[in-house]
Amino acid sequence: MIKTDIIIIGAGPCGLFSVFEAGLLNMRCHLIDYLPQPGGQCSEIYPKKPIYDIPGFPSILAGDLVNNLMNQIKPFQPGFTLGERVEKVSKGKDNFFTVTTSRGTKHMSKVIVIAAGLGCFEPRKPAIDSLDLFEDYGVDYIIKDPMKFNNKKVVISGGGDSALDWAIHLAKDICSEVTLVHRRDSFRGHLDSIEQVKKLAAAGKINLYTNSEVTKLEGDSYLDTIIIKTENQEINQKTDYWIPLFGLSPKLGPIANWGLGLEKNAIIVNTEDYSTNIPGIYAIGDINTYPGKLKLILSGFHESALMSHSAFKFVFPEGKKSFKYTTVLGGIEGFKS
Ligand code: FAD
Repeated sequence: MIKTDIIIIGAGPCGLFSVFEAGLLNMRCHLIDYLPQPGGQCSEIYPKKPIYDIPGFPSILAGDLVNNLMNQIKPFQPGFTLGERVEKVSKGKDNFFTVTTSRGTKHMSKVIVIAAGLGCFEPRKPAIDSLDLFEDYGVDYIIKDPMKFNNKKVVISGGGDSALDWAIHLAKDICSEVTLVHRRDSFRGHLDSIEQVKKLAAAGKINLYTNSEVTKLEGDSYLDTIIIKTENQEINQKTDYWIPLFGLSPKLGPIANWGLGLEKNAIIVNTEDYSTNIPGIYAIGDINTYPGKLKLILSGFHESALMSHSAFKFVFPEGKKSFKYTTVLGGIEGFKS
């Protein structure tokens, strides 16, 4: 269990920048995100899209912005718990919050910052009988650690960048067999990735089935065989894993049950410091709402600065805060001394 000053739920751009703002005031942070990588919408939905409204950057790719934020917060050594969803938040008599994730991990902190964006990105699941029986027993929706599939037979379904990129990566030097099944003839991914998949298929490194879909799963307690329906036949294929990559859709999820003031799936905050109705819990970025709210990264960055100065009083109730510019103190090391 980690005991820290601030637990940040959501490692999107606003959660990441909060580590910097909190770090300037000597507060330590631990981030938890359901996704296997940091960056929220920027990494998951549009990593290759340029953003034009980040001050100081006439244009920056969303993925590069996330990389820059990760570099910017490095000196503050934040902790990360990735691939786990925060299910429960409770407060003990010692005034520490305990946060419990979907995997039963528990972390404690004096302050909670909810930077959960549009909520948890949940996998879009195919409508197949007995799918739930094989979840975690041969069916995965997210690839957290590709080495899990080392030397395994894997079937991937989907026609977007995720399906293409993982098929290429796993086929190159990880899996013993990779099959890509897509229900249409054409793919939605980058042209370069489509070309690579076609080349790997021609070289016999990917079994490629287009105009096809997985229709049935079989196995005793673990997935053993999948049935692929192509245009003119049904194929019984032995496999260790099936990974349907049909995209993710955001859901507010468990946050709705934590007793927070909500309006239209967003958390109501006080714009003085982005505090919620529960003392010690703040909400910043896309997840909050107030009159005039703009769901922009820029707004979330501003909110994280005000939140951090207010959170200070929970972390250091006796402490005296002095505000100085980063430039005045000669860089981040100046703050840490
Ligand atoms: P998010 O980026 O949504 O991150 C929230 C994170 O919280 C997610 O990773 C999620 O997995 C996690 N999470 C949620 N609930 C839980 C839980 N219970 N447990 C664990 N983790 C949880 N904005 C701009 O300013 N400029 C642009 O040009 C721009 N272009 C955009 C283009 C597109 C296509 C889209 C979709 C959005 C665009 N936006 C743009 C909006 C911008 O991406 C969002 O404002 C920004 O991502 C919000 O950041 P955030 O940190 O609040 O949340």
